[in-house]
Amino acid sequence: MATLRFQALKDASGRKPVKFEESGRKSDLFGSNVFNDKAMKQFLTADAHKGVKDAVQHGTKIDRKLADYIAMGMKEWALTKGVTHYTHWFQPLTGTTAEKHDAFFETSYDGLEVFEKFGGGQLVQQEPDASSFPNGGIRNTFEARGYTAWDPTSPAFIFGTTLCIPTVFISYTGEALDYKTPLLRALNAVDEAAVDVCKYFDKNVKKVTATLGWEQEYFLVDASLANSRPDIVMTGRTLLGHTSAKGQQLDDHYFGSIPSRALNYMRELEEECMLLGIPVKTRHNEVAPNQFELAPIFEETNLAVDHNSLLMDVMSKVGERHDFKVLFHEKPFQGVNGSGKHNNWSMATDTGVNLLSPGKTPMSNLQFLSFFINTIKAVQEYEELLRAAIATASNDHRLGANEAPPAIISVFIGQQLTKVLAELESVTKGKLSPEEKTDLKLNVVGKIPEVILDNTDRNRTSPFAFTGNKFEFRAVGSSANCANAMTTLNSIVAKQLIDFKKEVDALIEKKDLKKDEAIFNVLREYIKETKNILFEGDGYSEAWEKEAKRRGLSNHKTTPTALKAKVSKKALDLFKDLNVMNHVEVEARYEIELEEYTKKIQIEGRVLGDIARNHVIPTAIRYQNTLIENARGLKEIFGKDFEKLAKEQISLIKEISGHIEGINSNVEAMTEARKKANALTDAQKMAESYCDKVKPYFDVIRAHCDKLELLVDDEIWTLTKYRELLFTR
Ligand code: ADP
Ligand code: MG
Repeated sequence: MATLRFQALKDASGRKPVKFEESGRKSDLFGSNVFNDKAMKQFLTADAHKGVKDAVQHGTKIDRKLADYIAMGMKEWALTKGVTHYTHWFQPLTGTTAEKHDAFFETSYDGLEVFEKFGGGQLVQQEPDASSFPNGGIRNTFEARGYTAWDPTSPAFIFGTTLCIPTVFISYTGEALDYKTPLLRALNAVDEAAVDVCKYFDKNVKKVTATLGWEQEYFLVDASLANSRPDIVMTGRTLLGHTSAKGQQLDDHYFGSIPSRALNYMRELEEECMLLGIPVKTRHNEVAPNQFELAPIFEETNLAVDHNSLLMDVMSKVGERHDFKVLFHEKPFQGVNGSGKHNNWSMATDTGVNLLSPGKTPMSNLQFLSFFINTIKAVQEYEELLRAAIATASNDHRLGANEAPPAIISVFIGQQLTKVLAELESVTKGKLSPEEKTDLKLNVVGKIPEVILDNTDRNRTSPFAFTGNKFEFRAVGSSANCANAMTTLNSIVAKQLIDFKKEVDALIEKKDLKKDEAIFNVLREYIKETKNILFEGDGYSEAWEKEAKRRGLSNHKTTPTALKAKVSKKALDLFKDLNVMNHVEVEARYEIELEEYTKKIQIEGRVLGDIARNHVIPTAIRYQNTLIENARGLKEIFGKDFEKLAKEQISLIKEISGHIEGINSNVEAMTEARKKANALTDAQKMAESYCDKVKPYFDVIRAHCDKLELLVDDEIWTLTKYRELLFTR
């Protein structure tokens, strides 16, 4: 078996590296595989083009006849690029993307000729055989299946020889079976709510778009080495493995020069992204060895979410060409940094204003403060729900496990804005005197600088930080679909903006306040109410855990407890009132996520048990046998003097037996715990049982295995070690 490992190493280093040359102007490539405005102008009639644009901008419906024209143009465009198939591309709740390819190829009605065909019907709707996608009981097997429907707001694109049409995935009874449907509804809700608030400041605003710029972290591991580890293959992370002598303590990877093999990979990946219209902009090393990050220019949220899902898929495929396995898991290696996916988020008006960017005038700053404070208030109101939106088995390794960011949701705003809020808090209740108004205008609101300086030196430990012109939700996991977090964030902000508008209007009407007086009054109350969520200190410290508890903030360290907030009355009402999800849809998701949690831990438990018993113990016994043989030989030669000579060997033999016993008894106990958990029928209880009763064995078993790794002869150890996984380039 040792040969396998060294074979793998040899493969890795003996292979001719794939070289990828960067050339030409990137902007020439950008979006050339996307059915974008330029392609539409070329391949669609003016009417058809306008139809798509209206659908995107105003949500107008595209009728069947128009869809036929659009489909025809889309097909013609695709054929010029050598496309043979089309697929509805969607994001079921499995967390990956799904597609079912159909050929354009069709026979004529008399069967004598063949043509490339693609009509409006096929563009607009498709029925994937989807009975095996998770649906949390919404779609009983005897019921009609789900179908996919075109989302014109995210343009069609070509990958390989397939035309991919972004779609939503819904059941025939209208319930969402995917990530995109509730996201689109939430984006719609925040659009409407934000436009209403914008009207206080600028009557011309007709549309507000939520924007998202994600930052994707990942590990690159040599594919043959990764494939030699059953745990990486089956679970995406290492379940055991002793930390290598060198880890990240030297900080030599972060912003160091990118290893050339990884750079070749990135160049080809970026070229693919360019073709697909994903505006990738930055690439750099991350903190851990072989860890990297990629970030695009921000986009409209729905498109950004699609682009992130697509990117993860493309990353894996390009990885194959370079013999890399791309690890998206939040914690692939113990003892080195994990990966996240920061979600930078803001809102922009159709008049070109970033609503979370301070402006030039007192009025534009009051608008900024309104959106800024309302976002804080939304997070404060729904911190538990926001925590639930990022809860997964893999993200539990980051949140609350001594790593960025904590499981406690808090908001960091920086010194400057803290000061502004403190000043606003002392605004007089009710009508303001002319002097106070002038003072506010000149000295408070008028003094907010356009660039918030102290945010350049950000607090990296905050899960939700204001970074000058956007909020950065840092607790999202690297393997997550951003839609979950974005649906929640946009929903809670929408709800908050609606409440804000009501309160301001009430003060204007009932108390006869001027508009800005009313706004100041409501904001003042919000500032008072949201103090417990604002935190500028070290989010990783124990002191903060205690302080947060005192402040009444939640601190759910594990997924099963965190997920409960999803089905609280407050959350169910929120999603229902905003038409984002009805109770059935929310409850279905909650169940799916619990089940996913259970399955993940179940699989990890099985794999760990297998490796411990099939790799580690046999290897340990083999090594122990050579020790025994050696001791026996010494006894034969030296007689009674042998005990002194074989002292080390004998103590090693005993030590190894101790660890073998430790592994066996704990694997057995873990299996028993799994059996007990499996017998439970309630999804919440089962997930809790896996979390509290099964998972704790992982560390114990691992500790024995990792000790053996240090004791056993390296030559016969069958598992690829950390130093090989992390430092092979
Ligand atoms: P850095 O954090 O490295 O200083 P930036 O602040 O420019 O860099 O951006 C970090 C990420 O935030 C990028 O992915 C960027 O696209 C995104 N971003 C910047 N502005 C916005 C915005 N208004 N809305 C959403 N995302 C944004
Ligand atoms: Mg960041």
